[in-house]
Amino acid sequence: MDYTMEKKEEVTMKCPECGGEFVRQKINYEQRWKGRLYSFEDVPALVCSQCDNSYLEPKIARTIDKIILEHKKPAKYISVPTFSLSRKAVTG
Ligand SMILES: [Zn+2]
Repeated sequence: MDYTMEKKEEVTMKCPECGGEFVRQKINYEQRWKGRLYSFEDVPALVCSQCDNSYLEPKIARTIDKIILEHKKPAKYISVPTFSLSRKAVTG
């Protein structure tokens, strides 16, 4: 076996769901951590060209985990509208 590390610029992967090809794209990614919602923009990901399946490369996933764990100062805060239907919200 040859274990020479080859530097490949293009990663060709097949979607495990539909067999489509993954395309490099920047996505918005949300992750929940201990009841909090963390939002990430411009996340480099591999997105299936046929279905909505997306895949984060391990180093990107690690970066996201690191940011959450280290509580880095976010670029900005957005508020997430959260609705409850438990009380008077249901009318009529
Ligand atoms: Zn797919």
